[in-house]
Amino acid sequence: SATPATLSAISNGAKNGILFKGGAAMEALSTMNVLYSDKTGTLTYGEFQVIDYAIDDEALKEVVYMEQQSSHPIAEAIVNTFKELNLDSVDQTEAVEEIAGSGVKKGDIKIGKPSTFDSLEDVNNYRSKAIEGNTTIFVGKDNQIIGYFSLADRVRKESAQAISGFQKEGIQVALLTGDNEMVAKKVAEEVGIDDYVASCLPEDKIKFVNESQEKNKVVGMIGDGINDAPALANSDIGIAMGSGSSIAMESADVVIVKNNLAKLLYSFKLSHKLNRIIL
Ligand code: ADP
Ligand code: MG
Repeated sequence: SATPATLSAISNGAKNGILFKGGAAMEALSTMNVLYSDKTGTLTYGEFQVIDYAIDDEALKEVVYMEQQSSHPIAEAIVNTFKELNLDSVDQTEAVEEIAGSGVKKGDIKIGKPSTFDSLEDVNNYRSKAIEGNTTIFVGKDNQIIGYFSLADRVRKESAQAISGFQKEGIQVALLTGDNEMVAKKVAEEVGIDDYVASCLPEDKIKFVNESQEKNKVVGMIGDGINDAPALANSDIGIAMGSGSSIAMESADVVIVKNNLAKLLYSFKLSHKLNRIIL
């Protein structure tokens, strides 16, 4: 069971908006030496603005209807941007399926990351139209691209300082994102992470966690999405953003209630100090 020192650190964390699901979580955090971080909604606010798009009116309505069924921050931005549209003409009998880390699907219509459409000839025409360095999603129907959306997000104001704080503590930090290479690179540079992997599927995130564990590292994973949940569950210390999806929070050992990464760094330092005193 948890020592008094651990309990006091947990209660201190709670006051600072860091919720530990028990003493083991606190103790695992104190020995962490690798931290993998998701991008969207974790290092960034996950509040996208649609900055450019091209699609015909009827297909746009389909997209808005489909994104209404998704909890992804991209979906939220699209639904908000086009909330005035009347969706009565959309066939609402067919099920909409969310594919974690990739997009949404309804019948023969697919919305999602560009790499999903790699087999299509016209994908490159659209790729060059999409604004560089922004998150871009494509809409495909009957094996053809019928539209795209470019969206911009911002890095959270605490991210760079918190990341550099972890690095100063000797933690090896790496970024794992489902987003494209250019956006991954831009955000990694902005927050000071050298090591980043773009176009990650949920299973790739697990793979990186497991590989580090095989090297005897104590691995932390921080994320917010349904795409992060499996990696959160597989890491030694899964950390979820309070604004994240409920499955991410259920899969995690620690929740950052108000999404402030600086508070996690503070809790880490505290747990580390206690750990040294006890040992
Ligand atoms: P991250 O790892 O950065 O949090 P995700 O794994 O959640 O990103 O998503 C990866 C990519 O999958 C997004 O950048 C987007 O291209 C696509 N995607 C995921 N969900 C949706 C959705 N609901 N609508 C459109 N595209 C989506
Ligand atoms: Mg995310």
